Amino acid sequence: MSFDAVMQHGEAVKLGLSRNDFLEIHVLSGAPLVDLTFLSYSQGYTIDNNMAVMLTEGNRIYDINNEPVLVLSKVRTQSRINILFPGCIQEYYEDEQLGCREILSNILNTRKSQLPSTVNLFMDVEIHPSGQLTILNPNGVAGDFVTLEALENVDVGVSVCPWKISSVEKGMVRVVHKTAASDC
Ligand SMILES: [Zn+2]
Repeated sequence: MSFDAVMQHGEAVKLGLSRNDFLEIHVLSGAPLVDLTFLSYSQGYTIDNNMAVMLTEGNRIYDINNEPVLVLSKVRTQSRINILFPGCIQEYYEDEQLGCREILSNILNTRKSQLPSTVNLFMDVEIHPSGQLTILNPNGVAGDFVTLEALENVDVGVSVCPWKISSVEKGMVRVVHKTAASDC
């Protein structure tokens, strides 16, 4: 076990995953939104290989070389995992707090303009036949979790979205990084 922490609203962590390590994200309370990315993430190849904009158990997350980097080894939630949105930004917030994109670029030590899009965990979106999208109220609940396994060594950034609606603000998650060497 190399990382195990409770995180809330506006917090983020960078985790250096080695091949075959596991990353678990558990909902403890509220309905948190969690964004995840890595510097070589490719939204396009991930859509193309999965033929989907919502991911579920068994789907893989690809890099800019079209190589799979992470696999969703367990998904236990009624909410969704979408790959449609790049993460929130400071401009969305009246008080100019940092959004997920600023937070993630800081911890991954890159410019916001260089940060790829994000994988949006526990975020529900309705896709209309016209192609238009409606963001639905977050509906992750305590006990939900997602486990990802690293297929390559990768530094992953995980943020708990600071979006200010009560269910998200009360959201707490537990993030666990289990190294392949430790017993899982
Ligand atoms: Zn956010």
